[in-house]
Amino acid sequence: MNLDGRFGRYGGRFVSELLVGALHELEEAWLAARQDPAFRAELALLLKDYAGRPTPLYRAPALSAAAGCQVFLKREDLLHGGAHKTNNTLGQALLAKRMGKKRLIAETGAGQHGVATAMAGALLGLPVTVYMGAKDVARQHPNVLRMELFGAEVVAVSAGSASLKDAINEALRQWTERVADTFYVFGTAAGPHPYPSLVRDFQEVIGLEAREQILAQTGQLPAAAVACVGGGSNAIGLFAGFLNDPEVALIGVEAGGHGLDTGLHGATLTLGSPGVIHGMRTLLLQDDDGQLLEAHSISAGLDYPSVGPQHAHLRDTGRAHYATATDAEALAALQFLARKEGILPALESSHAVAWMLANAGRFSPDQSVIVNLSGRGDKDLAHVGEALRRNQPLEVA
Ligand SMILES: *Cc1c(COP(=O)(O)O)cnc(C)c1O
Repeated sequence: MNLDGRFGRYGGRFVSELLVGALHELEEAWLAARQDPAFRAELALLLKDYAGRPTPLYRAPALSAAAGCQVFLKREDLLHGGAHKTNNTLGQALLAKRMGKKRLIAETGAGQHGVATAMAGALLGLPVTVYMGAKDVARQHPNVLRMELFGAEVVAVSAGSASLKDAINEALRQWTERVADTFYVFGTAAGPHPYPSLVRDFQEVIGLEAREQILAQTGQLPAAAVACVGGGSNAIGLFAGFLNDPEVALIGVEAGGHGLDTGLHGATLTLGSPGVIHGMRTLLLQDDDGQLLEAHSISAGLDYPSVGPQHAHLRDTGRAHYATATDAEALAALQFLARKEGILPALESSHAVAWMLANAGRFSPDQSVIVNLSGRGDKDLAHVGEALRRNQPLEVA
């Protein structure tokens, strides 16, 4: 971990005095826990027997044929809970227990991180309170019900635009008031130091497993590793396995379209400029006066106009490359995977698959590419159905 929490000109810890102590305590606890064989063994056992790791690395034959290279899907959709988020919430909840904290709080946008935190809290016997924008509470009823079934309390936040960024501000405020007994489970590789590094470390298992699996299956490293980017946690987890392999291209795919509830947050890495939000310096979607742009506020989870600081730095240094996929491309990719591979991916993950389809022919038939399938698509059924009714059914290649 970079001890000052800086990634080039990004990262850091821009918070009120009241939280500085709590963030130091968290950093120290994590630095100790990650070196403690007992903590590592306990987390590894939970990831294996409770959550189902390792997830498979699957060579997708139809996608490979369409892309003109060997495409391997890292199947985080098969992880308990249906997405990579479980890696992070199990890790942070276990750390909370080790620190002697008595309760968990979390923010959530579309509800997936709230559900994953509620699940981890139920498993480890820690009460959970989830802050969620009031708009999101109204339109994400199934996830509210899931959180409540796991025993969590869901608090609707009406401040600001009543969406994800306001839920984060409220969770940070609530944490300030109860730092002594409360652990804030942050949902992505963003926020004030040490969260971007801590969340990356909990998601790194994706990349480490994938690297081992591709070497076992093909005898060589992939030409590229591709993942969708919202706040950036599944992508940084995959990238972490290959950062020291310069021959592996790292490609992050952001949401470039509007109107679909994809869980991604817009093309921050393509269109953003530096600024400070939620305790970190990073890239933001903002206007010339520094006002945050909320272009995506029509759908939950799309209205957080930022990204984790390590991605911003990887972009600047050229180690990783960032592209966009539109809503229509993501929908077409979802349909392709459903019909040709019998896999229903999350809309977020479909952006990474869409990049692969859009870049058919870029790699040679003997090269392999790993695409992170960050989650399964069951949660998106209503939105997908609605989008398909609104638009012409899309041609599947
Ligand atoms: C939450 C989510 C994402 C976006 O979050 P990251 O932190 O960018 O990974 C992507 N895919 C799925 C399935 C998700 O649930």
